Amino acid sequence: MSTNGKKVVEVPSVVTVRDLANLVKISPINVIKELMNNGIMANINQQLDYDTAAIVLTELGFEPREQRPAEAETAADAQHAAPATLWQRLYAGEDPKKLKPRPPVVTVMGHVDHGKTSLLDAMRHTDVASGEAGGITQRIGAYQVEHNGRKITFLDTPGHEAFTAMRARGAQATDLAILVVAADDGVMPQTKEAIAHTRAAGVPIIVALNKIDKPNSNPERVKKELHDDGVVIDEYGGNILLVPVSAKKKMGIDDLLEAILLVADTMEIKANPDRPAVGTVIESRLDKSRGAMATVLVQNGTLAVGDPVVIGKSYGRVRAMMDYNGRAIQKATPSTPVAVLGLSDVPNAGDVLEVVKNERVARERAAERSAAEGTAASGADRSKVSLEDFFRRAQAEGNKELLLVIKADGQGSIEPLVSSLEKLDQGGARVKVLHTGTGRVSESDVSLAVASDAIVIAFNVEVDESARRLADSEGIDVRKYNVIYKLVEDIDKALQGMLEPVYEDKVVARAEVRQVFKIKNVGFIAGCLVREGAAQRDAKARVVRGEETIYDGAISSLKRFTEDVKEVRQGFECGVGLANFKDFKEGDVIEFYVKQRVS
Ligand code: GDP
Repeated sequence: MSTNGKKVVEVPSVVTVRDLANLVKISPINVIKELMNNGIMANINQQLDYDTAAIVLTELGFEPREQRPAEAETAADAQHAAPATLWQRLYAGEDPKKLKPRPPVVTVMGHVDHGKTSLLDAMRHTDVASGEAGGITQRIGAYQVEHNGRKITFLDTPGHEAFTAMRARGAQATDLAILVVAADDGVMPQTKEAIAHTRAAGVPIIVALNKIDKPNSNPERVKKELHDDGVVIDEYGGNILLVPVSAKKKMGIDDLLEAILLVADTMEIKANPDRPAVGTVIESRLDKSRGAMATVLVQNGTLAVGDPVVIGKSYGRVRAMMDYNGRAIQKATPSTPVAVLGLSDVPNAGDVLEVVKNERVARERAAERSAAEGTAASGADRSKVSLEDFFRRAQAEGNKELLLVIKADGQGSIEPLVSSLEKLDQGGARVKVLHTGTGRVSESDVSLAVASDAIVIAFNVEVDESARRLADSEGIDVRKYNVIYKLVEDIDKALQGMLEPVYEDKVVARAEVRQVFKIKNVGFIAGCLVREGAAQRDAKARVVRGEETIYDGAISSLKRFTEDVKEVRQGFECGVGLANFKDFKEGDVIEFYVKQRVS
């Protein structure tokens, strides 16, 4: 106990969510929930640094102390170890006095051909200094623009796929998003997706109503469509700015930049430049002559040439840095995108960069991560949100919203679906529909579900193969329905906690005991003939004598002659050993059965 009566907990400098939960004997879900309250999306295997763990423990009423590592130097590095989290977290632990404003980081999203690339180009060229400085410059995945003496950083991979992929990995580089909508085309499926993705991430948007130069542009119609999708612009009494632009004719670009700064001023866009850097990889590649290159967005602290760094499983010393104009720079402050050279390997987009004490520590840290990745469970072990365990999670987390991504065969079925689902209320437990759309379930739908811990509903539609694979690897529940009442009933049951998974025993084989052997050092083995089905080594077994079941339990061996086998089919003989059972008699029947989930 400490002087204030709180329980002191010693925490290692890096700890996974699961280990942290074990340390204080609470459910990992509560830890995840507490992290979410602090703006951090984490899964159960995620590594947290001490500062993050300390915030969680303090809020849970403990007094955290950092465990002193054996070596003094690693103690210093532990300050900024392995956070793979949202931006806000990066300065959550900073002394407010040290926080300084930084440029906002902006992503452009919207439907294909609505002019995202053209708009990024147009904005880049308003800044004469940047546009003409380097002549031919190589894209690094982000650039900065100066407007009225203030900088804005743009990520120039448009679209929400990159944004959500990064979020699904626990990283977030975007402060706000520009939603590009063509005035002659209006709200289209990817516009809706982009709205859903930004909403799920809590990232504010500004609408750029593009192509207003076109004679058939119809701004009023688009505004109404946006309104129908819950995007209420200021003109309609909401707080979302809409700026009419033409990327092609370069109209309204200054107004858009102005709007970005305006919205940024209403947000807490800060960082502490006076500390070692933490950042996120925006993109990376292997350059033929220069080796592994990564564009890193510095998110807190300042990155300098010569800094020893670890980025995911890659490490090194920053040999050189280039800005978006290809100019060599020595230092990169928060919100600056830089191409970094000097890395051992090409890291992945979404990997976190941290500066450590020296190259040796960097190398060790990278090796630890490679090893951890080898053993870490993949998606299968992710804290999966399934409809069946929504209730249990809801109780543990106190979070009573069941998030859904719904794909259906036509707009006509979406409306009744959503309205019946949103009406459901079981003691405050409710449905929140993150996104709806028509057509097959795509990878984008699943990645939205991953990033938001949602369930995907496929109503009368198929699931893309790539979406299926992603869902399997990330442990996302994709449920197919073709009748509204059945879907609504299931969801209603899930909200009440009545949708328990149901398992039934399925007998896969029956074998008759023909002879009993005693084998030295092994025990009793039943020599059997498989009468029906296929006897499986991984199944369970019951021994039935007459009407009575005299054993029910595990199988310890299944052999053909002397060979261990996985399966023995009907008509073949085999030797069966059962765990802690020796009382076989000729004529007994061994039933092999498996537990099967009833859907
Ligand atoms: P993206 O797919 O969203 O990146 O769209 P692009 O930037 O590639 O633009 C798609 C097409 O729309 C191109 O042919 C552009 O020239 C055209 N376009 C983009 N912006 C405007 C605009 O403001 N006015 C007109 N008339 N055409 C535009």
